Amino acid sequence: MKTVSILGATGSIGTSTLDLVEREPDRFRVRALTANRDVAKLAAAAKRTRAEVAVVADESCLPALRDALAGSDIAVAGGRAAVIEAAARPVDWTMAAIVGCAGLEPVMASVAQGTTVVLANKEPLVSAGEVILAHAETHGATLLPCDSEHNAIFQCLAGQDMADVRRIILTASGGPFRTATLDAMRRVTPAQAVAHPNWSMGAKISVDSATMMNKGLELIEAARLFPIDPDRIEIVVHPQSVIHSLVEYRDGSTLAQLGPSDMRVPIAHCLAWPRRMATPMAPLDLIAIGRLEFEAPDPIRFPALALARAALDAGGARPAILNAANEVAVAAFLAGRIGFLEIAAIVSDTLERYDPPAPATLDAVLAIDAEARRQATAGLKDAAA
Ligand code: NAD
Ligand code: MG
Repeated sequence: MKTVSILGATGSIGTSTLDLVEREPDRFRVRALTANRDVAKLAAAAKRTRAEVAVVADESCLPALRDALAGSDIAVAGGRAAVIEAAARPVDWTMAAIVGCAGLEPVMASVAQGTTVVLANKEPLVSAGEVILAHAETHGATLLPCDSEHNAIFQCLAGQDMADVRRIILTASGGPFRTATLDAMRRVTPAQAVAHPNWSMGAKISVDSATMMNKGLELIEAARLFPIDPDRIEIVVHPQSVIHSLVEYRDGSTLAQLGPSDMRVPIAHCLAWPRRMATPMAPLDLIAIGRLEFEAPDPIRFPALALARAALDAGGARPAILNAANEVAVAAFLAGRIGFLEIAAIVSDTLERYDPPAPATLDAVLAIDAEARRQATAGLKDAAA
């Protein structure tokens, strides 16, 4: 019996994780489930799985959660600190699937248990990669990459020596605007940006896929997770999203991981690791797929890629600023306050304006994240003017 907690249980990744966990009730026992404010979905999942505790980050939702779970023996709690406490509850396996840097402190609390933490939540790794990795080392935690590309790389690296790796190739779908003109991109609406051709995901990562900032964040994520010179991590657009990433070895062999565009595949890999478990998805039908295509990303229409590469190369506080400014800009775009092309502009301006020294602690990262958000928010007014 494996005990599991799911942080961000009501989101796209959280829902996929619950789907797998609920298929095997004899194998998985749910401890903590957390959400931001989706009380109905959280309470329903807590009841179905007989979770020990259900937590809402937004404290104003706690009375509604208490009502929804009245009469059950499921404990309830609310507020940011309660989410961190839930993450610290002893458990064998934690899915970190909160969106954004809001997941950083919960991830740190999970890691401090020294058990297995599955990282779907990529923003904390981007902002505080060194701090999280050092924390995992101190506490003997196992970090498993769940982002489909990083999970693919992890699988392609199994049993190999990093010294033999020549290149890591991250694949990118190219998002909904892969073939759009700059002029068309200037006018896209939030609804168009979140309509991803291959994957069904939360709003923030869908916009990140549309700007390709998602691939920029993933480039940094890959550099954190796999000890390789960042120059050896390349990005290739692969519109079918069948190959999730590749590792090239010095003898000329390239290993790839293929699978359906369904996050339950990498989640299942992390749930059963180092073994495998059954999933309900139809296997790949290569003949129906017919063709796999590859192309270079366009740096002009997708400036987020170069911004992320530069932030990775410079290191220090740059990735945290990139991420924080992007979170602010994406939220403003989704709220209709700025245009699509302004997202990368806000990130670039914030990086230009704010250049603090490298953070060495969690508190230093959080302070940089907060200040970068303030600066990006101030920049929004200029963009809207
Ligand atoms: P989502 O928006 O669907 O879900 C986010 C979850 O986090 C929800 O449960 C929400 O209630 C919770 N949440 C939001 N804000 C919070 C806050 N301030 N405090 C506490 N909880 C909060 O997002 P998603 O698509 O499931 O993505 C989750 C993470 O996984 C992101 O970091 C994303 O980049 C990453 N990821 C997602 C996918 C995917 O296919 N959806 C793939 C790879 C990586
Ligand atoms: Mg990904």
